[in-house]
Amino acid sequence: MAIARPVRVLGLAAVVMWFFFIWQVLKPTSPSTKHKAKGIIKSFERDPNLDPTGEPEGILVHASDEYAPGPAGTARINATLLALVRNEELNDMLSSMRDLERTWNHKFNYPWTFFNDVPFTEEFKKKTSALTKAECRYELIPKEHWEVPSWINMDLYKESTQILKEKKVQYADMISYHQMCRWNSGLFYKHPALANTQYYWRVEPKVHFFCDVDYDVFRYMQDNNKTYGFTINLYDSPDSIPTLWPETLKFIAEHPEHVHENNAMDWLTDKVRRPDHNKKANGYSTCHFWSNFEIADMSFWRSKPYEDYFNHLDRTGNFFYERWGDAPVHSVGLGLFEDKSRIHWFRDIGYQHIPFFNCPNSPKCKGCVTGRLTDGDDILYKEDCRPNWFKFVGQG
Ligand code: GDP
Ligand code: MN
Repeated sequence: MAIARPVRVLGLAAVVMWFFFIWQVLKPTSPSTKHKAKGIIKSFERDPNLDPTGEPEGILVHASDEYAPGPAGTARINATLLALVRNEELNDMLSSMRDLERTWNHKFNYPWTFFNDVPFTEEFKKKTSALTKAECRYELIPKEHWEVPSWINMDLYKESTQILKEKKVQYADMISYHQMCRWNSGLFYKHPALANTQYYWRVEPKVHFFCDVDYDVFRYMQDNNKTYGFTINLYDSPDSIPTLWPETLKFIAEHPEHVHENNAMDWLTDKVRRPDHNKKANGYSTCHFWSNFEIADMSFWRSKPYEDYFNHLDRTGNFFYERWGDAPVHSVGLGLFEDKSRIHWFRDIGYQHIPFFNCPNSPKCKGCVTGRLTDGDDILYKEDCRPNWFKFVGQG
């Protein structure tokens, strides 16, 4: 029996469409096209980490005999590697130390200063000091810097953190995490052990450093008039900081004199790239320097604008009733009260804190996939806020 022509055509079309459908499902996709397909990196024309990276421009001081350990190391300035860490994190701290000593500090021998809210164990002291030729200091945080402040109402804390937990804010009901964020925001640089120290490099347990760095990064900060150095720039969870920006606006209305004329307000308030974040955070983009890595000058934290700002924030109690992180607090402070040209992207320092990387294109790096932002889920690509920093401030 003959089949009518239109029916034959329809049948053929159905077969062709079926094969097309199967091919769409099974075709191989490269990671980069997957991300592009989701529109995730659309405003990022090209990741600058793909471009060959050398040492930064400006005045650099390279390793020499004057960086020998002990009193012979006359080239060192007032600076320390700084780690807040728990005894239980010893092995992860050792791994961070090994990486940083191998790539940088064995050439410069800057002291390590470890902080803890309980005394360090003998094992901790023995194993960490065995990894470096430099001096190691072990410091206890004074109770008045760590304890929950007197003006916090614990019933309100419990109620508020239940709500944060329902919104899936990480660590919301872990009080020590709130204490840690508050200490890192506004108290660490007040520790008596740091009274004569100006610069620090913050190092967490379980981070990685991949690239040889052959110049003194602290001298780089000093000689090139930099206040703050970062590697990774991210969006934050808006649910952890709903009133940070409104409180910030109140503060700058009371203290307009503290706002720097060359501030990074447009980076702080951008609402084009992730409008929902800006909305939920009540006007703050949530972009921040990821503060598990920081190379910075404590003079800024000790200055009147930042000190007044931290005290204002602290009195709200929202380090506890919300879950304000030290990363957004530092970043908003810097973005408003510092000259943005004094904030430096250390593009040459290969770094990882799970789940993000900074991986430059340089023969000095090993074990870091050039340009890799994350080894986690694809969804994490949208957390990258570097494109906005580069757009509003640049790559310096
Ligand atoms: P995350 O990076 O936000 O997931 O938080 P971490 O658990 O890594 O904590 C940030 C830093 O603070 C790390 O260096 C931790 O070792 C340190 N830290 C966090 N909580 C405490 C604490 O209760 N006591 C001490 N001594 N260190 C802490
Ligand atoms: Mn961490």
